[in-house]
Amino acid sequence: MTHLITEPAQDGREDLDSYRARGGYAGLAAARDRSSGWVLEQLQHAGLRGRGGSGEGRPIFEKWQRVAAAAVPERYVVANGAESQAVSQKDRFLLARFPHRVLEGLLIAAHALGARETYLCVRGDSPEALAGAEQAVAEARAAGLLGGVSVTVQPSAPTAVSGEETAILDALEGLEGYPQPKPPRPEEIGLRGRPTLVQNVESLAAVAALFRLGPERIRAVGTPACPGTALFTVTGAVDRPGVYEVPHGTLLWDLLVRAGAPPREEILAVLPGGLGSGPLRPDELDVPLTYEDLAALGTTMGNSAVIVFRRSDGALPALVRENVALLSRGSCGQCRGCKEGHEALLRALEAGDLAEARRRAEVLLYGRGNCALPTGTARFALRALQAFPPAAWS
Ligand code: SF4
Repeated sequence: MTHLITEPAQDGREDLDSYRARGGYAGLAAARDRSSGWVLEQLQHAGLRGRGGSGEGRPIFEKWQRVAAAAVPERYVVANGAESQAVSQKDRFLLARFPHRVLEGLLIAAHALGARETYLCVRGDSPEALAGAEQAVAEARAAGLLGGVSVTVQPSAPTAVSGEETAILDALEGLEGYPQPKPPRPEEIGLRGRPTLVQNVESLAAVAALFRLGPERIRAVGTPACPGTALFTVTGAVDRPGVYEVPHGTLLWDLLVRAGAPPREEILAVLPGGLGSGPLRPDELDVPLTYEDLAALGTTMGNSAVIVFRRSDGALPALVRENVALLSRGSCGQCRGCKEGHEALLRALEAGDLAEARRRAEVLLYGRGNCALPTGTARFALRALQAFPPAAWS
């Protein structure tokens, strides 16, 4: 059952005619025939949750409602396809292959929130995603689908922090593109000081699917708390790496089998949500893919990049050191203690001082800074330290 992409995956881009033949843009037409309130009701009823890299899974309805509630004449909508971690490919895949689904969701948001100016941010080092986005906007404009809404395709810097929602707005305002302190959130004070919806591109494609299929069909898939489907990038030690769409609640192990993972006994660890997610042991891979089930294990859905590590590729201490070093290189350095905290954690790991590593992760990184990077590093390191037996560290 797929809502976001058409399987088997096409080789090329789904153009406007192909998308319309599958019901594309009928949902936008239905939304434009009705009020903003009706659109928000549909979102609330469907229970869709945000698919951005924070892994929080905040209800999309609540975010839209906060922007809609602001008593101002000017609001903005920004589609976030910046996809900070290179290990995640799902947003680029969606924009390169199925860009009209994102664009339709963006236009539904613009209608619901009364925005006339919108931006579609795409990771700048992905020419396929940029071309897909630009061609889709051009086709929709030529077909008269934009309805007076301006859509600007904006390349984003390929850095570890460029996809954070306030960093996106910082870059759109011509600044350095660094994450900013929160509150305020963009829904309150965003682009040019106006309420702004910054929504991940997969979330917008899910919105388009909702208005194409209706809330009942969305809720018929997934779990009651986590309806619908989601895209996962599966990478690392698998035979068939790529982007997969599965219903929320699918067992992680079933997804791994589909991607050609090795037998469990050959697996060292699996990161279920990108570099900043807590590693899972082979005996923990039957976890359902929902925000709550992963959080209960002390990890996160994160950016939905599932990374498989094989025992024969290296031992746990090396994996942890290399991942912390990778995350450390992503620090933009603007917040006091972020770079130093990463370096101190790395030194403790290199010295084999696990108690000190734990202290560094807890005290210097968890919950610190303007973005989720240090918390992700701490989450990764702390779970590796807590969940893997001492023998794995020797
Ligand atoms: S927490 Fe670190 S990576 Fe995030 S904005 Fe601050 S310095 Fe940059």
